[in-house]
Amino acid sequence: MADMLSELDRYIEEHLAESLEDLRRLTAIPSVSSKGEGIADAANFVRDLLEGEGFEAKVMPTDGNPVVYADSGERGNASPTLLCYNHYDVQPAEPLDLWDSPPFELTERDGRVYARGVSDDKGQLISRIAAIRAVRAVAGGLPQRVKFLVEGEEEVSSPSLDAFIEANRDLLAADACVWEFGGVDPDGRPEVVLGLRGILYVEYRVRTLSRDAHSGSAHNLPNAAWRLVRALNTIQAADGRVLIPGFYDAVKGPTDTDLQLMAGMPSSEAFNREHFGVKEFVNGHTEMDYITAVFEPTANIAGIGAGWQGQGSKTVIPAYAMAKMDFRLVPDQDPDDLFARLRKHLDEQGFSDVEVVKLGGERSAVTPGDDPFVQLTARLASEVYGKPAVIDPLVGGTGPVYPFRAYLGTPIVTLGPGDPLSNAHSPNESMSIEAFKLGTHHMARLLLEYGAQS
Ligand SMILES: [Zn+2]
Repeated sequence: MADMLSELDRYIEEHLAESLEDLRRLTAIPSVSSKGEGIADAANFVRDLLEGEGFEAKVMPTDGNPVVYADSGERGNASPTLLCYNHYDVQPAEPLDLWDSPPFELTERDGRVYARGVSDDKGQLISRIAAIRAVRAVAGGLPQRVKFLVEGEEEVSSPSLDAFIEANRDLLAADACVWEFGGVDPDGRPEVVLGLRGILYVEYRVRTLSRDAHSGSAHNLPNAAWRLVRALNTIQAADGRVLIPGFYDAVKGPTDTDLQLMAGMPSSEAFNREHFGVKEFVNGHTEMDYITAVFEPTANIAGIGAGWQGQGSKTVIPAYAMAKMDFRLVPDQDPDDLFARLRKHLDEQGFSDVEVVKLGGERSAVTPGDDPFVQLTARLASEVYGKPAVIDPLVGGTGPVYPFRAYLGTPIVTLGPGDPLSNAHSPNESMSIEAFKLGTHHMARLLLEYGAQS
């Protein structure tokens, strides 16, 4: 085994230029899903790339951007099947003047490569392909069947993915899934993330007058801003608790395993206190409360607007007010159910005039921390990186984990070449070449050892 591991390292090193060339060609396609650019080109490129690796690959239609599906076919159905979830779409590159090199020209400097999508998510995809090549070269073949699902709408909240997975359960059937992102924390410890939160995103709109009015009439004319503030005030208490009846009915909180894992996690408390200049966290959270609070759903005002917001004073009664709110949800909360409860709550509180529009919804899902696939991934991460892996039961953000857990039932882990300097979604997005090699090695080890378990 030791021989094989150094051979893996040598292969990954010697074929690095090939992988970076694949990455250069893929990042040259500006596949920005929010603008609908470069979508077909990127999907075809990924299909051709996987076909070139001997996969049976095809571009499949959805209600939105197409999905690339590929199957290595190894050993039929007798071996465990690993499903890799990735996406070929990227965020817009703007603002362009903040880039030090053109966003769609892969540029190398100081041990990193720069381009839009190089980390999120094209480098992750290329790293997995590099791992497959290395395993085939070193072990004479893949010891298991590998499938890829590479979607084109991840950066616009994956609106077509749930229906695609539900309709293609048999095609996508797998024993385990490697998630699209993965990497190391600020101390270089590899992170294995087991769950993401869900979301309900709404917009509130209230109109009290047909047009703005002179505030000399404020004793008679109703103010939309006050109306909205009073409505919002019924949604969340000062301690952060959401006041919508039934909002917590499905919430179970962390399991004992989750609590054990979180006890071993490094905390971002000190960093966030410093970075954001926080005097006191929500509800006084500190130490373990600070870490476990991710299992509490939230109601966040993401934007609010009404009336005069320009320089100096203007004495006006706003006719219209609006706010946007994202509720981050935990496992078993259903955004559709909560949306209905929110409407009912506002009606019962006397705010039937406050319109609520649903802008998006996704459910949360988690993989149990004691799943053998999680344990294997974490053990290999610790060996490859030479530092103990951090297993994070639930992170605060949202991704389309739910259909994978609900329809395919696979455990999900994260691994890959991301790091805290990657600047995903921002100008000068980058990937560390060293992190690429480590992430590729980790993936290759997982392919070898997971395949050997059958
Ligand atoms: Zn992204």
